[in-house]
Amino acid sequence: MTTVQSRREFHLDSDTYDDLVAHARSDVPYEVCGLLAGRDGTLTAHYRIPNAARSMTLYNMDPKAMLHAMNEMDDNDWDLLGIYHSHTHTEAYPSSTDIELAFYADAVYLIVSLQAPDAPQIRAFDIVDGQVSERALVVDGERASRSLIPRNARRAGSAGEQTSGESR
Ligand SMILES: [Zn+2]
Repeated sequence: MTTVQSRREFHLDSDTYDDLVAHARSDVPYEVCGLLAGRDGTLTAHYRIPNAARSMTLYNMDPKAMLHAMNEMDDNDWDLLGIYHSHTHTEAYPSSTDIELAFYADAVYLIVSLQAPDAPQIRAFDIVDGQVSERALVVDGERASRSLIPRNARRAGSAGEQTSGESR
């Protein structure tokens, strides 16, 4: 049974979006992780869960903190809407480990990438039986997943960077 209304979108408010980026930035170069809870597709709580793996390439939610969050969701009759983690050096796409360990078919997996530190990117995915499908991320009612990224985001190592300096 799925509780998500719009199958191909995931809705975030901009405060939560900013919170996710702030959390990701708070522990660079290590990955961070957490849970988003809600009811009828509307977010009601954001849990930062310690990454027990303390790793730059994977996350392992601290079981105690996760249990605490899950209990609170139960008590409030909230659903687990989203599971997020950060990628500090790679794109916002699930790694093979992420796909293997995606056990919550009803939750949407969000990845916050800091690969371009000045242009963080969040993308949302369904991961079901090893199949990854992307959802459009909607922030404050606007589809944002790709438009948030500046076209000329700085790239490490691009030597002859052109002086088209205006940022849009
Ligand atoms: Zn990952």
